[in-house]
Amino acid sequence: MILGIDLGTTNSVAAVMRGSHPELIPNALGETLTPSVVGMDLQGDLLVGRSACEFQVLHPERCASAFKRYMGTDWTTNLVGQRFTPEQLSSLILKSLKEDAEAYLRTPIHRAVITVPAYFNDLQRKATIRAGKMAGLTVERIINEPTAAAIAYGLHESQSEKIVVVFDLGGGTFDVSVVEMFEGAVEVRASSGELWLGGEDFTKTLAARVLESQGLMFERAELETPALVSRVLQQCEKAKKLLSRQDAATVIVPDRQGEVHEGSARIEITREQFRKWTEHILARIELPIRRGLGDAGLKRSDVHEVILVGGATRMPAVIDAVTQIFRLSPHSRLNPDEVVALGAAVQAGLIAQHQSVNDMVVTDVCPFTLGVEVSRRVGMEVRNGYFLPVINRNTTIPVSRVDRVSTMYANQTEIKIKVYQGESRRTKDNLLLGEFAVKGIPRGPAGQEVDLRLTYDLNGVLEVEATVVNTQKKTGLVIAKHAQGLNEDEIAQAIQAMQHLKTHPREETVNRFLLKRAERVYRELPLMERERLADLMDGFEAALEMREDEDVLNRFRLEIEVFLNQYEEGFQNDVEDSADDEW
Ligand code: AMP
Repeated sequence: MILGIDLGTTNSVAAVMRGSHPELIPNALGETLTPSVVGMDLQGDLLVGRSACEFQVLHPERCASAFKRYMGTDWTTNLVGQRFTPEQLSSLILKSLKEDAEAYLRTPIHRAVITVPAYFNDLQRKATIRAGKMAGLTVERIINEPTAAAIAYGLHESQSEKIVVVFDLGGGTFDVSVVEMFEGAVEVRASSGELWLGGEDFTKTLAARVLESQGLMFERAELETPALVSRVLQQCEKAKKLLSRQDAATVIVPDRQGEVHEGSARIEITREQFRKWTEHILARIELPIRRGLGDAGLKRSDVHEVILVGGATRMPAVIDAVTQIFRLSPHSRLNPDEVVALGAAVQAGLIAQHQSVNDMVVTDVCPFTLGVEVSRRVGMEVRNGYFLPVINRNTTIPVSRVDRVSTMYANQTEIKIKVYQGESRRTKDNLLLGEFAVKGIPRGPAGQEVDLRLTYDLNGVLEVEATVVNTQKKTGLVIAKHAQGLNEDEIAQAIQAMQHLKTHPREETVNRFLLKRAERVYRELPLMERERLADLMDGFEAALEMREDEDVLNRFRLEIEVFLNQYEEGFQNDVEDSADDEW
């Protein structure tokens, strides 16, 4: 069985093909969305998902989130003395999804299809494959998130022939894909996007404005008072979501330790204000849309449907902007948080030759131009740093193209090949993917020829091969290992290093999450109300330690949950009431 996984910046989701449909897999808490957050609790045990999310509010320094944004880079984070790469953190999320699927399906899972933003580059894709390996998964295919969404829709509604735009605004990335659908075929015509544009930017901007109103600068406060910033971010995330369904929301600014008091400042934010504060972020969606349509050779009026994918498309300002650009109402008939995982499961079904999807055909494109660096002779002068495109952006994949380069000098026996991705004429403005040397070129006059073959496979992973034309000698590799990449040995080492990490048994997830949530709420509670919750938590912890039977534990769980829900709903109503007053 092959698992379909949407490894998201904010949340991750797993699904599998069962019968004629993809089915979402619930985690240990019975939820389909697992927050992409990892933490190390005070006992040094690893937390993944919702428990880590709750823990992060009080202990941001012990948690990592949004690390997908750093995939394929040298970024690392330190959790209680241990360094983690984005690949390792992602592997912990993948491992948790794998275990949930195994528990739900009652069968071991070793294979997966993982989705990535269409605009993820080669380094980020390879890093994702390695994260899968570290989690004990063979990554059968990497597919683009908007393509996965289109596949999920294609399974349901591809009878009529139409041009569909998939507008995917997730937590950290923005993708737009132009897709042609007809009779069971899903053909991506063009993809475009931005790597650093997503819901997190809206939350951060809101938090920065809230802090500003208290005379604080976001970046400085993040260094000096992380607990305060973490609480404000958490509240702004909630407020942002509330503003998707109501006209105003309130954020309470805690003290420097992250504690809320009676006298804490309450800041009221209206939807209009939020829209104004974030319009510079929203303005960035237009260019990728233009580029995607242009590359597909289409006009806005050719588009029959716009599909919304990703949690951030719930913001009314986003829906308005999309409506304005396309002059038609976008839709999200399938849940925008789940549709990518559903599509990944269908793709997994295609690979496994699942009967119900046998007649489906999916094609995708390479969303950026790939090429090599060359030098040019201008008069007597040799100028370096020009980009020679070999595979143009939005070419259908898999694709393999050859281009010929030649030596610049007499008796030059070696050429250094630098492979780049990007759209600029000069390589300094593009992304270096890797480099290697072609040696053994026969001595002779300048102009000895070398053929370079660039192959971009179905996973969106690039390989390069050089052939010296004169001798037909091939240089086997591919792209040299990039600094942050891991080879097989290093992956094995990383897996071993992570085996020392202590994790809680999966069965304890519900209890652990409840206690972490209770700890967070305890800090937020007015002093008079703390005692009751403290009593319940003490009793529950004691019952867990004494291994009391399930009835006793259930009673505690229920009581704590009722208490927490009452508090959180009460707070929400409070906020909504004050919003009503205002309007
Ligand atoms: P995804 O990566 O698709 O899970 O998208 C997650 C992003 O969507 C996060 O930045 C969330 O804050 C955002 N999001 C989820 N629900 C809403 C909502 N109701 N209103 C605004 N943003 C939302």
